[in-house]
Amino acid sequence: MTNDLRIINVVPNGKPLSLKTARILEHKLEKNGFVVADGFDNDAELIVCIGGDGSFLRTLHKYNFPDIPIIGVNTGHLGFFQELSPHDLDEFIFRYRNNDYIIDTISPVEGLICTRNSCIEILGINEIVVKGHKSTTIHLNISLDESFLEKFSGDGVLVSTPIGSTAYNYSLGGSIVDPRLNLLQITPMAPINTIAYRSFTSSIVVPKDSTIKIHPEYMHENSILIVTDGMEYRYNEIVELQIKVSELKLKLLRFKDYSFWYKVKEKFL
Ligand code: NAP
Ligand code: MN
Repeated sequence: MTNDLRIINVVPNGKPLSLKTARILEHKLEKNGFVVADGFDNDAELIVCIGGDGSFLRTLHKYNFPDIPIIGVNTGHLGFFQELSPHDLDEFIFRYRNNDYIIDTISPVEGLICTRNSCIEILGINEIVVKGHKSTTIHLNISLDESFLEKFSGDGVLVSTPIGSTAYNYSLGGSIVDPRLNLLQITPMAPINTIAYRSFTSSIVVPKDSTIKIHPEYMHENSILIVTDGMEYRYNEIVELQIKVSELKLKLLRFKDYSFWYKVKEKFL
């Protein structure tokens, strides 16, 4: 019986335009035979997130990276993740009902943060940033799998996914990566490259099966700040971070005419 219900989670941020768009969408969905969940239903077949990219990222974090396809309606500023605008709701429902869509998958970046006592796992859709929480230079020993790469000195490093390459990574001079590629990009943040300290000054691209290991210099164990998709984590006595592509696949609902490079041109040029 419940299997026949086509439940949809509509998740707006708190902005008046998002709340208004959510009410209109709920009404239209119900007229078309869908059930809009009261709160968040883990058995829903789709999540419609209403807001900007930040809301898209926060929704996936808040509901613990659900295995349910997600699509966004942009009421924010940039809306890189958001496929729809508030004017597209009728066309969206029409195409969704006609199964005129595809499911695209993206892999988040996974970080294992180990302190002297324990390890915790974090996930990033755009990126994981490792930096100092004070304004001083930090020094990070970086290895790729078992081989030592460099002792980085500067503000920190950012490890970006392909889909996150157009976000903070791009502002730092990193490359825009076609999301059909499965890789990670390590982008330095204000690297020092002098006779006192030597750091790579360009991004480094690593394949999906490598593990990036970061060991902060001893004196920085208590001054590392980890930021994933804009959310901050602070731990004492961080001895090692391991960063790699997650096995998890997030499902993005897209229409057949979606083109990443079209979106890049539209939003950036
Ligand atoms: P925010 O401060 O509003 O984000 C900054 C801008 O990044 C917003 O315009 C946001 O779009 C856009 N954005 C987010 N993900 C993107 C993506 N994958 N491609 C292109 N642009 C993207 O904070 P937020 O909305 O919570 O987003 C968190 C993200 O902000 C972080 O993951 C990080 O990548 C980014 N960020 C960027 C900088 C920087 O460029 N200097 C600094 C800190 C954080 P909306 O306007 O639609 O929200
Ligand atoms: Mn935002």
